[in-house]
Amino acid sequence: MLLKTALLSLLAVSLAVIAPAQGRKGGGQPVQPIQQVKPGLYMVAGAGANSEIRVTPDGLIVVDGKLAGEQNYNDLMAQIKSVSSQPVKFLIVTHHHADHTGNNDRFLAAGVQVLGHENLKKNLETYRANPVPAPPSMTYAGAETTVRLGGVAVEVHHFGRAHTSGDSVVYFPDLKTVVVSDVVTTGATGPLADYAGGGSFLEWSQVLDSILKLDWDACIPGNGGVLTKADVQAYKAKIDTFVARAKEAVAKGVAPDQLMAQIKTDDLGFTPRAPDPAAFYAELKK
Ligand SMILES: [Zn+2]
Repeated sequence: MLLKTALLSLLAVSLAVIAPAQGRKGGGQPVQPIQQVKPGLYMVAGAGANSEIRVTPDGLIVVDGKLAGEQNYNDLMAQIKSVSSQPVKFLIVTHHHADHTGNNDRFLAAGVQVLGHENLKKNLETYRANPVPAPPSMTYAGAETTVRLGGVAVEVHHFGRAHTSGDSVVYFPDLKTVVVSDVVTTGATGPLADYAGGGSFLEWSQVLDSILKLDWDACIPGNGGVLTKADVQAYKAKIDTFVARAKEAVAKGVAPDQLMAQIKTDDLGFTPRAPDPAAFYAELKK
């Protein structure tokens, strides 16, 4: 208890030093104070997507490195240093979008191995972002790889297409925690199938099935707080309803450009986003 109080006051002091950046380019929330999810596992919200930090005796494994920017990178590193003096050894990036991969170059310059799925690397080649995030230094092509450091094993799974074709789900089996990135969205912001980046609403459900089969009690989404298994089950049910309605609309002969407007979503509590509705239509029509 004493130790906890000491740690908390230490955290308070370091937070006071790390004042949030004012007048940030592009707006949005700055890097937020680090939070413990489980002993040895932390998360940092803000400046893009959630980042996660796994502490091992031989260094740190970080998941997702926030939107590009020296300030974002420095603020994230300051939060990390407030809980561990160990160096970052691995950065796992969950898909190619810049709110997850924006500082790949800074981690690489610091000697960190950056790991992502082979499809993430492919998606970066056609990704319209400025700057385009640096590609990972290590990729895996199949369904799974494992990062081992300091006696800790972190499983990196590619369960198929959902948000993009290069989604990685990061599983910490010893902590019964799973990081699902934008495969699960929270609040009114609905799921986004990035068809240009290989995403798929049709295959999304089986990706969630695979996630639900893992043994965990804490799920960290790309944005927002920690979710339970019941939360993810409820989210999957909503995706299933949405896709079933979309199939029904296509069966009834809806025009491709009318598809999204014709699917009832007001009772789902979220609005799924398909920036390329013709691609969604095409996979439903198959
Ligand atoms: Zn994304």
